[in-house]
Amino acid sequence: CNMERDHRRDFPLLMNTDVAYLDSAATAQRPRCVLDAEEKFYTTCNANPLRGLYPLSIAATEAYENAREAVRKFLNAASAKEIVFTRNTSESLNLVAYSYGLSNVKAGDEVVVSIMEHHSDLLPWQMVCRQTGAKLRFIECEPDGSVDLNKVEPLIGSRTKVVAMTQVSNVLGRENPIRQVAELAHRAGAVMVVDGAQSTPHMPVDVQALGADFLAFSGHKVYGPMGIGVLYGRKELLEKMPPFLTGGEMIESVTREGAVYAELPHKFEAGTVNAAGAAGLHAALDYMAQVGFGTMQRRELELTRRAMEGMKQIPYVHILGSDQPEDHHGIITFTVDGVHPHDIGQILAADGVNIRAGHHCAQPLLAYLGHPSTARASIAFYNTEGEIDRLLASVSTLRERMGYGK
Ligand code: PLP
Repeated sequence: CNMERDHRRDFPLLMNTDVAYLDSAATAQRPRCVLDAEEKFYTTCNANPLRGLYPLSIAATEAYENAREAVRKFLNAASAKEIVFTRNTSESLNLVAYSYGLSNVKAGDEVVVSIMEHHSDLLPWQMVCRQTGAKLRFIECEPDGSVDLNKVEPLIGSRTKVVAMTQVSNVLGRENPIRQVAELAHRAGAVMVVDGAQSTPHMPVDVQALGADFLAFSGHKVYGPMGIGVLYGRKELLEKMPPFLTGGEMIESVTREGAVYAELPHKFEAGTVNAAGAAGLHAALDYMAQVGFGTMQRRELELTRRAMEGMKQIPYVHILGSDQPEDHHGIITFTVDGVHPHDIGQILAADGVNIRAGHHCAQPLLAYLGHPSTARASIAFYNTEGEIDRLLASVSTLRERMGYGK
């Protein structure tokens, strides 16, 4: 991608539409180079990777393994063997729960999650606790979305086997103190599972510096394709874990009675892999490196500040979480007095402003904060001041259009 110009021009859909796309936390738009990389895979090296010995298949395997190396660098993992390709964050977290969780958590143990977890990082742990007889405990947050480590410490003890926490909340946008929580987990002998779905699009994520034993993210939220996700896992842990899915590609040898599984990471990649998706993810990570987190963060902060300052001028609008734009990572979840979030979403859509409305797959958090549902605008570096102003203009007319008068 040519980066000598306005980044927005790299995104074909944004160029082809006049809607204000403010739902990037749900899925980001893709730059042209990601679409090109997928097409290039199918037009130049499409063959089943890891199966054939002929040149096309070798090229497909190379594209796939190069993508793995790019992810390793992106996360600063020690080895490419620690990078498992999955479909998305949800599958990655299920892999950890089914494989690590069910083998290591026993009755009487405890699994600690935060109240901020997306259902993808909650339901798998509910399953583990249900099946093993372990207890699920919750780290709660303060009304501004911050986490008080003094309240976390007593929750993590000798019974704790797993601590699972999102690095950035998809509702509040706030970054959690993962490194400190990981230290508490490790001191108790537990593993630290990190949901990186909302952090990887916005900040450098270093699994070693964080002390993450596992970290999951989705390609489609980091400007890559849908259907490709990542699980990072510490090698010593992955080596001891049983496969999550079994079948083709993940074996060394098979007899009538049993099988010897393949080495890492292939043990966790049963069946034909999404090599084109991996190639697209590789292009997306290269693209992010070219733009740079510095540029992305500066832009996202400017736009978030503009949106939050504008919303604060509208008396019936309430933003969840911190009142500091720096704490939001482009995510602004809000309510409007007397207007149901689904009406907010529909009225904004009629004005060409695309946002999210509902429970954001984080129902326990919304219940804890006292809102059955909310509206969420989420900003990426490719958004514009004009789009934020359209959001504000539309939000400022909401109550009047719902019949409340001026
Ligand atoms: N975790 C968080 C924090 C998310 O925001 C999301 C998606 O919105 C997910 C997990 C699930 O991601 P996916 O649907 O790609 O599996």
